[in-house]
Amino acid sequence: MNRLQVMKFGGTSVGDAECIRRAAEIVLSAARESAVLVVVSAMGGVTNRLISAANKAVAGQDDPSSEIDSLRQQHIDAAKVLVSDKSSLDKLIVELEQITADTASLCRGISLLRELTPKTYATVSSVGERLSARLMAASLRELELNAAVVESTDVIVTDDDYLQAEPLMHEVRERAAAVLKPLLRDGVTPVVTGFIGATADGVLTTLGRGGSDYSATTLGAALDGDEIIIWTDVDGVLTADPRLVPDARLLREISYNEAAELAYFGAKVLHPKTLRPVVEAAIPVWIRNSFAPQKIGTRITTEGHPTEHGVRAITAIPNVSMITVGGSGIVGVIGVAAKTFQAVASVRANVLLISQSSSENDICLVVDSVDAAQTLKALRSAFAADLKHHDVEHITVDPNIAIVAVVGEKMRGTPGIAGRTFSALGKRGINIIAIAQGSSEYNVSFVVEAGAMGDAVRAVHEEFELQEARSEAS
Ligand code: ADP
Ligand code: ASP
Ligand code: MG
Repeated sequence: MNRLQVMKFGGTSVGDAECIRRAAEIVLSAARESAVLVVVSAMGGVTNRLISAANKAVAGQDDPSSEIDSLRQQHIDAAKVLVSDKSSLDKLIVELEQITADTASLCRGISLLRELTPKTYATVSSVGERLSARLMAASLRELELNAAVVESTDVIVTDDDYLQAEPLMHEVRERAAAVLKPLLRDGVTPVVTGFIGATADGVLTTLGRGGSDYSATTLGAALDGDEIIIWTDVDGVLTADPRLVPDARLLREISYNEAAELAYFGAKVLHPKTLRPVVEAAIPVWIRNSFAPQKIGTRITTEGHPTEHGVRAITAIPNVSMITVGGSGIVGVIGVAAKTFQAVASVRANVLLISQSSSENDICLVVDSVDAAQTLKALRSAFAADLKHHDVEHITVDPNIAIVAVVGEKMRGTPGIAGRTFSALGKRGINIIAIAQGSSEYNVSFVVEAGAMGDAVRAVHEEFELQEARSEAS
């Protein structure tokens, strides 16, 4: 087969008719040189609105159909701008109406039963991608490219963790060969719904919020693609979130390890699992700006930028909570750590950072705030007897914290990074609550009060002079 590019367009890149047309033009110009597979997100904000409609329905609040109605109208309005041929437009509108009518019925069902299972939650939240894929395919056809919508439920086979589903690569390869390869061979540009998968027996799942990036790399790997381009609303991966650090600088080239670490520690520009499928086959992933396609963007490869040493970027994760298991009673008590992690694993909480003080008085772990209450409950029950006998003196939770991470693959060979980081924070009076260094040594991460997160990121960014134009020739 030809060279294959997988292009994923994020929410803002398909945010309205004008953006969808711009995205379609990007695809058209790439399609002149290679086969292109398109993966789309929902139009910006749509997934949040769908989730809020489902939550209102289960709470019996408002009429959820009014939100669905406004989504129907938004997509039909965009269709009218994008498609000039009357009969194609009529056909498209029928499809958009059908999908939104089904969604409205589903919300009425949720409201009547006052029940919202993970399966139903996944189905409602996936509607945005099903709508936007149709707009994108129509827009490509308008540019005379032969495009067809492909439901990812037919291709991305996953496990049954409905809201954080994991693709089953072997099955995805088989389906991709059966469903996508024939289209590509016939010169058709498939437009696949991002974010969505299905279990082997066809029940819809979602890959977690922001999961369309992961859809793109999963499909790129399954089809042995030549490169994957993630089109978004920033110029590429920057040295920090530009919303926290306005003078953050573009990184031209980073390694899979660095990108994965950044994504894991909160850089929203990539879903945390994005790089997993492509590492083995070393497929390059680009992050580029769909609003400025002339810019080259960031290239993510095995090597990254071999001459760049030290710190490359700073990230932060808000909305996390720190749970501390501690007290002088746990010194020397065998199995406290094992029991702690068993309890945490039993509720499948996402643990972002672990730190044990050298005096062994405390084990602290940071989890997503949504997992905090059940993690605390599991720990209190696991340690019920110890708490009673004061072997473990306390298990507490602090929801007002954030994690900040300093990332760079070659930090290992550069002494003094932790020291410089902490003295930069000290100079600004920012208190460090806990510290962890991942065994990979690709990052040093630490916990600060939630209110100090932005200042901490800016302080460290400045300390390592990441904003200054350093030579980044690739
Ligand atoms: P999309 O809808 O295209 O998937 P996202 O909103 O999920 O886009 O991700 C892009 C956003 O990620 C940017 O607008 C930026 O605010 C944020 N971001 C956070 N950290 C970084 C970083 N280090 N580099 C670039 N963008 C970042
Ligand atoms: N639309 C989904 C979300 O908002 C997936 C994505 O955009 O990647 O989470
Ligand atoms: Mg995203």
